[in-house]
Amino acid sequence: MAQKNNDEQFKNVISHAKEYGFVFQSSEIYDGLSAVYDYGQLGAELKNNIKTYWWKAMVQMHENIVGIDSAIFMHPKVWKASGHVDGFNDPMIDNKDSKKRYRADQLLENKIDELYSELNNFSSENKAKFEEFQQEILGLSDEGQAAWIPSFKDEDGILDNAKYPFVDEASWRFVKKGLALEVEMNLALKSENLGQLKDLIVDYKVICPISKTSNWTDVRQFNLMFSTQFGAMAEGSDEVYLRPETAQGIFVNFLNVQKSGRMKIPFGIAQIGKAFRNEVIARQFIMRMREFEQMEMQFFVRPGEDKKWFEYWKEARLKWHMALGTNPEKYRYHDHVKLAHYANAATDIEFEFPFGFKEVEGIHSRTDFDLTQHQEFSGKKMQYFDNDLNEEGKPYGNYVPYVIETSIGLDRMFLLTMINAFEEQDLSTDDKQDSRTLLRLHPALAPYKVAVFPLTKKDGLPEKAREIMDALKFDFNCIYEEKDAIGKRYRRQDAVGTPFCITIDHQSLEDNTVTIRHRDSMEQERVAIADLADIVGKAVSWKTLLA
Ligand code: ATP
Repeated sequence: MAQKNNDEQFKNVISHAKEYGFVFQSSEIYDGLSAVYDYGQLGAELKNNIKTYWWKAMVQMHENIVGIDSAIFMHPKVWKASGHVDGFNDPMIDNKDSKKRYRADQLLENKIDELYSELNNFSSENKAKFEEFQQEILGLSDEGQAAWIPSFKDEDGILDNAKYPFVDEASWRFVKKGLALEVEMNLALKSENLGQLKDLIVDYKVICPISKTSNWTDVRQFNLMFSTQFGAMAEGSDEVYLRPETAQGIFVNFLNVQKSGRMKIPFGIAQIGKAFRNEVIARQFIMRMREFEQMEMQFFVRPGEDKKWFEYWKEARLKWHMALGTNPEKYRYHDHVKLAHYANAATDIEFEFPFGFKEVEGIHSRTDFDLTQHQEFSGKKMQYFDNDLNEEGKPYGNYVPYVIETSIGLDRMFLLTMINAFEEQDLSTDDKQDSRTLLRLHPALAPYKVAVFPLTKKDGLPEKAREIMDALKFDFNCIYEEKDAIGKRYRRQDAVGTPFCITIDHQSLEDNTVTIRHRDSMEQERVAIADLADIVGKAVSWKTLLA
């Protein structure tokens, strides 16, 4: 079968997710609600399994990490302290002709990508040299970066071949324009210069993909938090927010958990829960949603040990992803050159989606910013007394702990898992055309572990099959099917990722054996019914992922 292009593959995954009950558009009968999705009968199972994998890896496998479940509503001051009320904004711009709204920074990023696409004409050596040069520039101070802009914008500028051997490429003109725009955009975003963002959109001739015009409004800031009224109006209601991240529920419970759990530093608090962001533009299916779920862990450490723990979690989290058997080339780290004001290190774990490498998880070294902010806004001490002895033999004493955060989007992980598992296989032979759609999910994540099929609907086979199903269902999520030819039933289970199909035939009644079919290899073997629980149990065990 011809290699499907990425767009087509992505479309196929989306329609597959709907056809087999993984993901539906929310309120679909009313034409849906933009960027809100429901998980169907199999989606809910897969999502639960991903959560379980994360929870076990973080909480169960670490003696010093505990999990909580904090409320979605929080005191409004929490979001003042965290900086979300004043700073959780996206710059937006409308096209007056199409009436479509965009994030100004994303329009510019698309333009930068377009200009950088000329890098494909560079030799790999020159490309690497350029990337090194680019990192060097982006690592300069704001003034240092700004000083470079005029030479990047000059069509004939920087032709010093000795220093920049890549500049003789014809495509350099576009690439350096891309670099100029990247630097200018970063500086404008940092200084929140909305006029400058608009100027860049105009200067670089960014057009609306729908109307194809550059008839833009001004750029405005747009806060991403949803707000609502808390309490009846008559009693004097207050504006509250739907939490835009789960992390703050952890920070405000730091003292509660530390004291009640008698936790000693270093320790972590984990949580899985809903978060809400009024994204200016939401796209790419469940990649960017307005209601989504996060799996976050805040790890509290002694000041000065933050770098060490940042490195630890960076590695540990990529290992968690890789244990699923994903091709390592599909993952990469993206270390942040520009850091948020409170962070001293940050990296994204990116996965190569059909639409390019994108963030799935962030690992941030957040210093003592969050706890100090809450200390200031609440008036409550957010300190820890460390009675371990330092090098001088004295207790470390009181301090506000530093924090390393790992934050992964559950829905993005779900999408990654579906994309990674989805495969259309050509099984044609010389005399017969054939194909199958397969979800090559890790058995521990598969919604159903076992499908139980009586070969026919008579001769006592369904009864025997039910007996087997009834024995297995306590430990494994099973599905029973007796309709259609066996081949068709196998294909349906391949499409939803069921690792094992068990077929009960006439021989089963005589010798208590069945055929077990393996999803990926399609191989079948005859095994004793008494061995089934062991065979399935080994393959789907969490140990295969966690050990
Ligand atoms: P992005 O740059 O893609 O908007 P972010 O840097 O704002 O993401 P964080 O605030 O670090 O994201 O959130 C942690 C994780 O939550 C992200 O890595 C992502 O997996 C997930 N996430 C964030 N926003 C959304 C969203 N709107 N829909 C689905 N998942 C999201």
